[in-house]
Amino acid sequence: MGEIRDMMGTFELFQPMELEGALDLLRAHGSDAWVLSGGMDTFDWLKDRAKSPRVVVDLGSIEELKGIEANGDGIRIGAMAKVSEVATHPEILARFPVLAQAAEKVATPQIRNQGTLGGNLCQDTRCWYYRSGWPCYRAGGNICYANAPNSLNREHCIFEANRCVAVSPSDTAPALIALEAEMEIQSVRGMQRVSAEEFFIGPGTDITRMTVLQPSDLLTGIHIPGTWAGRPSYFEKVADRKAWDFALVNVASTLDVREGVIYEARIVVGGVAARPLRMHRVENAIAGRPINDETLEEAARQAVQGARPLRFNDFKIALTRNLVKRSIREARA
Ligand SMILES: Cc1cc2nc3c(=O)[nH]c(=O)nc-3n(C[C@H](O)[C@H](O)[C@H](O)COP(=O)(O)OP(=O)(O)OC[C@H]3O[C@@H](n4cnc5c(N)ncnc54)[C@H](O)[C@@H]3O)c2cc1C
Repeated sequence: MGEIRDMMGTFELFQPMELEGALDLLRAHGSDAWVLSGGMDTFDWLKDRAKSPRVVVDLGSIEELKGIEANGDGIRIGAMAKVSEVATHPEILARFPVLAQAAEKVATPQIRNQGTLGGNLCQDTRCWYYRSGWPCYRAGGNICYANAPNSLNREHCIFEANRCVAVSPSDTAPALIALEAEMEIQSVRGMQRVSAEEFFIGPGTDITRMTVLQPSDLLTGIHIPGTWAGRPSYFEKVADRKAWDFALVNVASTLDVREGVIYEARIVVGGVAARPLRMHRVENAIAGRPINDETLEEAARQAVQGARPLRFNDFKIALTRNLVKRSIREARA
């Protein structure tokens, strides 16, 4: 089990200036290497010595991973763009406000100035049993400490538990899925783009990872198409504190409403499963209906179908119902 020693173990630090160099290093060192972006998640792991990589590859000097630029009718955000840049970028504010609102809700101004969008998406779960170095399923052991009779599991999942009950911590991830974003991944195998929805994986797919990324893969950019630009959208995060706190539940939505009728919607809830959960059932149930009480009640009902709360988190059921309703009723262009 890890202890807080506040001093990192030794590792070999590489600071490549180019993407190719970083990819070569990752290929050479495989699972011995750790990718470092802003360090906001990384340094917790290393200082607690719950993870002890032999090699650290710092992406901080690679210019091609930075910046936010127009790309056709959408935009491309470099993985090393700071969370604060995403929250305040004029084009994101004007065309994709749901993402700016989500980024604005991340942590604190200091963490947003240091943390990157790529790091925010690739960060590990905050389950404290796992982060404290307990040998749980996710850490390669054979028990889930958060799902035993006396476990503290108020923050854990209500959907898709599969041995592990940890949840996805990112505020920006649901917004990117709602915007139909694609993740640009580069590795020695070349470049591929994966939908934001498929980028995140649950324990049923691989209990040791939260994304599709393999040890030698890098998330290099995030592409947001113009499809949902300027359409009604909504983001809300509920946490115990107003700042410096992870979501208990968050929601992001984008809606295509024509003459008062919902033509199409994308609704994504975070903090309820190991991956941000797209509410396909809700989306199907509300398509073709006007935004009225009946539609909202149906959305709320569908949102929690199949939910399985743990001992201390049944409040997440009511929270999910209400957030999903609000994400439809309050969506604004
Ligand atoms: C006190 C505190 C409060 C926080 N509150 C919130 C919150 O409310 N909401 C929220 O969403 N987040 C929150 N965070 C998380 C914070 O936003 C993330 O830790 C941060 O965004 C991670 O980004 P980073 O650039 O610092 O990444 P790092 O810490 O450097 O990396 C995070 C992880 O991602 C991997 N990684 C990073 N970049 C890449 C890449 N390009 N390709 C492949 N792998 C990569 C790293 O190897 C590491 O495993 C909080 C963090 C702290 C410390």
